[in-house]
Amino acid sequence: MYESELERAHGQMLEEMQSLEEDKNRAVEEAFARAQVEMKAVHENLAGVRTNLLTLQPALRTLTNDYNGLKRQVRGFPLLLQEALKSVKAEIGQAIEEVNSSNQELLRKYRRELQLRKKCHNELVRLKGNIRVIARVRPVTKEDGEGPEATNAVTFDPDDDSIIHLLHKGKPVSFELDKVFSPRASQQDVFQEVQALITSCIDGFNVCIFAYGQTGAGKTYTMEGTPENPGINQRALQLLFSEVQEKASDWEYTITVSVAEIYNEVLRDLLGQEPQEKLEIRLCPDGSGQLYVPGLTEFQVQSVDDINKVFEFGHTNRTTEFTNLNEHSSRSHALLIVTVRGVDCSTGLRTTGKLNLVDLAGSERVGKSGAEGSRLREAQHINKSLSALGDVIAALRSRHGHVPFRNSKLTYLLQDSLSGDSKTLMVVQVSPVEKNTSETLYSLKFAERVRSVELGPGSRRAELVSWSSQEHLEWEPACQTPQPSARAHSAPSSGITSRPGSIRRRLQPSGEPLGNGQVGGWGSFPHTLVTATGPPSPGWAFFSLSFFIVSKTSLEPVSQPSLVLRSIRGRQC
Ligand code: ADP
Ligand code: MG
Repeated sequence: MYESELERAHGQMLEEMQSLEEDKNRAVEEAFARAQVEMKAVHENLAGVRTNLLTLQPALRTLTNDYNGLKRQVRGFPLLLQEALKSVKAEIGQAIEEVNSSNQELLRKYRRELQLRKKCHNELVRLKGNIRVIARVRPVTKEDGEGPEATNAVTFDPDDDSIIHLLHKGKPVSFELDKVFSPRASQQDVFQEVQALITSCIDGFNVCIFAYGQTGAGKTYTMEGTPENPGINQRALQLLFSEVQEKASDWEYTITVSVAEIYNEVLRDLLGQEPQEKLEIRLCPDGSGQLYVPGLTEFQVQSVDDINKVFEFGHTNRTTEFTNLNEHSSRSHALLIVTVRGVDCSTGLRTTGKLNLVDLAGSERVGKSGAEGSRLREAQHINKSLSALGDVIAALRSRHGHVPFRNSKLTYLLQDSLSGDSKTLMVVQVSPVEKNTSETLYSLKFAERVRSVELGPGSRRAELVSWSSQEHLEWEPACQTPQPSARAHSAPSSGITSRPGSIRRRLQPSGEPLGNGQVGGWGSFPHTLVTATGPPSPGWAFFSLSFFIVSKTSLEPVSQPSLVLRSIRGRQC
């Protein structure tokens, strides 16, 4: 039994072994087949990698070559850079040399042009005359009021800007001056006319610009202007600053200003610590013949701001001095004295030019009736100094050896700026309205006189006698006809010549004989004294604001104890 069971078990075991054997063989076959597939894939991958390797090799070779090339270049770069720098440096050096030499050439040409410009300028000024007279008519203002008295009495020639027509007491009178500005003219238009004079101050010339005319005619407006629309003073300084700046590479300039006034023949320093102190004009004790004003303060200015500070200081000084500043300013001469000192950096040459900007006292004539006491004294002083100024200008124009500078403080102070090569411009201000025509007529006659008489070389003495004598200065009948060369007509044999081209057209005679005091000469004032007319106009305030202004600011006076008024005779540069 056991045996049969054993055999059955054995048989079962054999069957199981058989089946296991078969399972094993199947598994082996499957694994083999899988391994074969995987092997194939690996082979294929390997083949791909081999192919890639084959293509990467040349790229690697190229990279290696490139790298080596770059390495070589980097090693050689400093050398290359050095060489490049060297050649660039050489090129720059050469270019600089070329620019330098062309600069030298330009500088030479510039200097030559500068000389030429100066020569032309001088020639122009010489042709125009060293003394020029222009007129400016202010517009009709609210202060002129309304009605027939405020109607316009002044007309202009559309074709000739040197002619002005005035309708005086129903009769037309015409005048010819160097230039006439109508009420439409702007501050810039007027400044353009005086610009050349101002620049000549940098070249060492002395210049005087006067505003002449009756009170309210626009003197202060022209000289001072308003803060929004400044006049000659402010514009002149601005121009000087910019011109000096332009020449800064070759020249070193210093600009100084003094502000003074002459009231009742007393000269006062409005920038000084003691503005009420009377200043004297003295001759230098060194025998040089130069004048100096001991105690006149001179401030160095570098900008328009500085100027404004100086003005403010002067204004403060003046307002504390006088209760009615407007009235006072119309009865005193206001002077702004600008001195430009230059040193040529390359040659050491020095020049000094002085620009005197003068707002004169009102020129209105005063009748004998209304003037007494201090007003009479004021009027006498104004008359005296304006007459003296007229006499001096007349004597200068006639080129006479003796010029009566000492007859007034104003002419004495300005002596070295009025004589020699100095240049003078008189701006005659007139009011356009009917009620002022007498004063307008007077001012224009004064203007034409200043301008029109010129003496020939042979007969200066004869002319001087008639001009310097007060008695002979009463307006002659010939002057009623406003021919610019009235004197020339009245004394043709004395060698007087009219200004070249002064009679451009036949002017209409006024036919109006002049009354007492309506005189053409400078010496007429003392005969006719009256109270100044009308209240001061609002414009006076501007006058005082700019001319007499001072404040104790950071500005330092460059010479407190004394200022030497140096005279520049002839060009120095
Ligand atoms: P003056 O100094 O001769 O007494 P102002 O300069 O004070 O006269 O002028 C008198 C008035 O006329 C002022 O109100 C001023 O502003 C005005 N005025 C003068 N001239 C002009 C002008 N060209 N344009 C505008 N207003 C002017
Ligand atoms: Mg004034």
